Amino acid sequence: MVGAGLSGAVIGRELADHGYQVTVVDSRDHIGGNCHTERDAETGVLVHVYGPHIFHTDDEEVWTYVNDYETFLPFKNRVKTTSKGRVYSLPVNLHTINQFFGKAMRPDEAYAFITEEQADTSIEDPQTFEEQALRFVGKELYEAFFKGYTIKQWGCHPSELPASILKRLPVRFNYDDNYFFHKFQGMPENGYTAMIERILDHPAITVKLGVTFERGMAAEFDHVFYSGPLDGYFDYSLGRLGYRTLDFERFTYSGDYQGCAVMNYADEAVPFTRITEHKHFAPWERHEKSVCYREYSRFAEAGDIPYYPIRQVREKELLGKYVELADRTGGVTFVGRLGTYRYLDMDVTIRESLDAARGFLACISNGRAVPAFFQRPL
Ligand SMILES: Cc1cc2nc3c(=O)[nH]c(=O)nc-3n(C[C@H](O)[C@H](O)[C@H](O)COP(=O)(O)OP(=O)(O)OC[C@H]3O[C@@H](n4cnc5c(N)ncnc54)[C@H](O)[C@@H]3O)c2cc1C
Repeated sequence: MVGAGLSGAVIGRELADHGYQVTVVDSRDHIGGNCHTERDAETGVLVHVYGPHIFHTDDEEVWTYVNDYETFLPFKNRVKTTSKGRVYSLPVNLHTINQFFGKAMRPDEAYAFITEEQADTSIEDPQTFEEQALRFVGKELYEAFFKGYTIKQWGCHPSELPASILKRLPVRFNYDDNYFFHKFQGMPENGYTAMIERILDHPAITVKLGVTFERGMAAEFDHVFYSGPLDGYFDYSLGRLGYRTLDFERFTYSGDYQGCAVMNYADEAVPFTRITEHKHFAPWERHEKSVCYREYSRFAEAGDIPYYPIRQVREKELLGKYVELADRTGGVTFVGRLGTYRYLDMDVTIRESLDAARGFLACISNGRAVPAFFQRPL
């Protein structure tokens, strides 16, 4: 297993449970991949080192799986946003609309107001993110809540992004401010790294940290599951797949800095996208001091941690070439968010990892070749 994140840990555990000897390597000095959590030395707060992670799923098997390895406590993600010096509720809901327009509309009144008075109905066939937002919510809500944030997050103007990013009306006409709709939501009581440590705790699994896997090492193993970057496996020989990366600026505060876990900053003039105050992810703990991360988004250069795959036209063309190369390479299966160059929530990562392990076992027992992908990246 290349990578000690969720992909490597879940596949490794499944195979170890089926009698395989598994080696897990990670170039970092910790397990957990990008879900890694650790105690902040100064404040004692459990910190989501690579950005805030909230577990949510509709997949009962995955929910049972994570609960087998860690206690999940109830947690609802209620995000706020600051726009032009005022704080609003997110995702844009009836509270946001009433606050923003200084009204006290009921759901059907608000629906009529947005779709008939605010939405730009002259746009018949929206082609870009900007047109789609103007068509759905109109100029005022678009400029207050979508435009600046999107520019900061993706480093380009919403008129350069496809309409498909905003698939449906991105507004709720009730007071539901729970960010996710999923049936199961929660936070691991002791963090994700504690959970992944238990998943990896098996006599047939050896974990080697601070070890960077290179292609030549594949010969030492019967099969490799690779959860690192797909282009990195081939030494970027065809070019680099584009990613956004994040910079986190840590600061501490005595007391409660912002009263919630995540505060977005919607204005383009504010250079960061959001501030995470980590202690609010564990409301069952008590901490006097607080640690917060200001989050900045930018294009990932060589050497930066790849976070969000860009997946625009150029990247998809290049991705196609790497997929062809991978299909021609035997003995390795590409998995996870970097191996398949897709944004994957944790529950999807676990689902796909369980399926990949089972797919591998089926191939072996049926004498079939193990494919380069159990989930095609395109
Ligand atoms: C900012 C951010 C916020 C997110 N928030 C949420 C959320 O709220 N809820 C949710 O469900 N999901 C969230 N996710 C998604 C979640 O992070 C992923 O689902 C998960 O990390 C995928 O696990 P993985 O094992 O595939 O990849 P990773 O966690 O990236 O693990 C890959 C590992 O491989 C190692 N590696 C790479 N190349 C090599 C090499 N050559 N040799 C050795 N080791 C190597 C890396 O060091 C890394 O540890 C978020 C993601 C991001 C980026």
